[in-house]
Amino acid sequence: MNSKLTEDQIYRYSRNILIPEIGGEGQKKLLSAKVFCVGAGGLGSPIALYLAAAGVGTIGIADSDNVDISNLQRQVIHSTDDIGKTKTSSAKQRLNRLNPDVNIVEYSELISKENIREIIKNYDIVIDGSDNFATRYIVNDACFFEKKTLVSGAVLQFEGQVSVFKPHLGGPCYRCLFPEIPPQGVIASCQEAGIIGAVAGLVGSIQSLETIKEILGIGNNLDGRLLIINALSMEIDEVRVNKLHSCRLCGNSPSISKLCDYSMQDCETD
Ligand SMILES: [Zn+2]
Repeated sequence: MNSKLTEDQIYRYSRNILIPEIGGEGQKKLLSAKVFCVGAGGLGSPIALYLAAAGVGTIGIADSDNVDISNLQRQVIHSTDDIGKTKTSSAKQRLNRLNPDVNIVEYSELISKENIREIIKNYDIVIDGSDNFATRYIVNDACFFEKKTLVSGAVLQFEGQVSVFKPHLGGPCYRCLFPEIPPQGVIASCQEAGIIGAVAGLVGSIQSLETIKEILGIGNNLDGRLLIINALSMEIDEVRVNKLHSCRLCGNSPSISKLCDYSMQDCETD
């Protein structure tokens, strides 16, 4: 964005602009950035709210669900009045009220191998706030093929994990960390095992921070590191994530050359 900030924008974003690492130039970078968030749920809520508040200019949001009363304990972008609406339209309305500077693009269809690469081509950074492994792998693989930075998060009960993947710049991908899709039913979902809303808030906030730093090119991000948060003992651990030379996607002799059917256990045999 070459245009100048308006007076309203200078005032609205004054607490961003005051930070030496951001300033007016950084704020213009945020306003011209395009980020895509998978999910408008427990993680997507704080992610989209904080990115919109910070003035990230274009936010694409994908979710194929409608707002249910059982979502509201953690999905703070939605309200009781929104029950029954699509999550994307509910999120868009809330974000437009929060910051009319921001262009919200809704994707209310299911993310699939057919549509994801075309969608993320239009964005700078992809944020995964999904709640299932099939989506995490499809998002990871699509980001690898389209050379997009992926800001990944996951939560369950009192635990959360966050990382950033940039395999196109030599870092590991999600498959380097978790080479195999767990068989369905082995790892419980939030729907089965529960989740504290504030844990989703914590992890989603970290994801939005990593995205903002990535847009601005400041600080150290979580590329090559996995943050593991245990909110019950209130301990945060960090483990190194190395590029797996045997990774079937980004390794030395990859066997995955295109997106495939992620509901199946394996990807290579097509
Ligand atoms: Zn990999």
